[in-house]
Amino acid sequence: MEALENYFQSHSGETFIVVGNAGTVNTADFDDLEKIGQLKEKYPFWLHVDAAFGGFAACSPLYAYYVQGLNYADSITMDAHKWLNVPYDAAMQFTRHPQLQAEVFHNQSTYLGSADAGFNFIPYPPENSRRFRALPAWVSLLAYGREGYRDIVERNSQLAQQFGQQIEQSGKFRLLASVKMNVVCFTINGSTTTGQVGEFLAALREDGRVFMTPTVYKGIPAIRAAISNWQTEERDVMIALEALNRVYDRMIQPAITQ
Ligand SMILES: *Cc1c(COP(=O)(O)O)cnc(C)c1O
Repeated sequence: MEALENYFQSHSGETFIVVGNAGTVNTADFDDLEKIGQLKEKYPFWLHVDAAFGGFAACSPLYAYYVQGLNYADSITMDAHKWLNVPYDAAMQFTRHPQLQAEVFHNQSTYLGSADAGFNFIPYPPENSRRFRALPAWVSLLAYGREGYRDIVERNSQLAQQFGQQIEQSGKFRLLASVKMNVVCFTINGSTTTGQVGEFLAALREDGRVFMTPTVYKGIPAIRAAISNWQTEERDVMIALEALNRVYDRMIQPAITQ
């Protein structure tokens, strides 16, 4: 926060967009949106919040405090193909400046019609022709509602907690950050090169039971497990842990004992 404010002060008169994080990719961590938002009183900047994953924290009283201050945002983006559980590639965007957005993206053409016949969606997104992505999103919202999504968010996050605890206790893996919501960021004990993580994940994929992706967290080659499917249950977490243990025992253990 201090660095941000110093930056504003040393660049006064300039135009800024601040991108706040609500659920980072590596660890589902959150910026203090309340504190950032309050700076808007002193400095004129556009606050965009990347809430691709984390916006769904608002569905649950257990996690809603993570997105406190989201109301300060000028614009927010949220993915629908993650926690809303609809097919790729669907997302939502919210803005406090619809007029400006329409000015930016509007394609001037009489054949596209005008807003006279009701709300006109055409001028808002960067693309004109697009699939009816809103339909599965809308139907899913109707089917599950706020309570349904609260349930999915809490269940997924609780499973990530469990998964994180097991990782911590395994002696084979090491948790790199506390589990905030649905993402578990960890690495292999005693093995920290990108190449080793890559080989490990290739062997895990070969095992066939679980698929995980590599990342780097604070300079450490790592693995991230993200749980977002509505069907995931404790049994799946056990299967994932079993697969991780098996690959470790076959690949890492012999290398250590040699
Ligand atoms: C997934 C994700 C993105 C990428 O968005 P896509 O719409 O999936 O391309 C950006 N930011 C965060 C925090 C994400 O989790």
